[in-house]
Amino acid sequence: MKFCPKCGSLMIARRENGKLVYICPRCGYREEAQQNTAIKILSTTIKHSEKERMVVITEEMKLEEKLLPKVKIQCPRCGNDEAYYWVVQTRRADEPPTRFYKCTRCGYVWREYD
Ligand SMILES: [Zn+2]
Ligand SMILES: [Zn+2]
Repeated sequence: MKFCPKCGSLMIARRENGKLVYICPRCGYREEAQQNTAIKILSTTIKHSEKERMVVITEEMKLEEKLLPKVKIQCPRCGNDEAYYWVVQTRRADEPPTRFYKCTRCGYVWREYD
């Protein structure tokens, strides 16, 4: 939630050219949101079909995977025992978040539900 510093209206968050921007619907004031982590970018782009969702994630991961924690878990494809790990709230907030893993060796991405 963010309020316009000029007129006090509730601002609307919108994505423009991959950036999150807050826009005031009353006076038109704009402000770019701060985005520092891979997790935030991921959680705002997950709004497509199942197939598109995986593509978005794997593309983002190539850029940001060095920021992610690693866990000991076995890759279902190559048997490697280490993977990057992140959590995404994919649907409504009252549903449990989905855990994603990406194999550090073969790059395979899979998920697990809580
Ligand atoms: Zn305003
Ligand atoms: Zn693997």
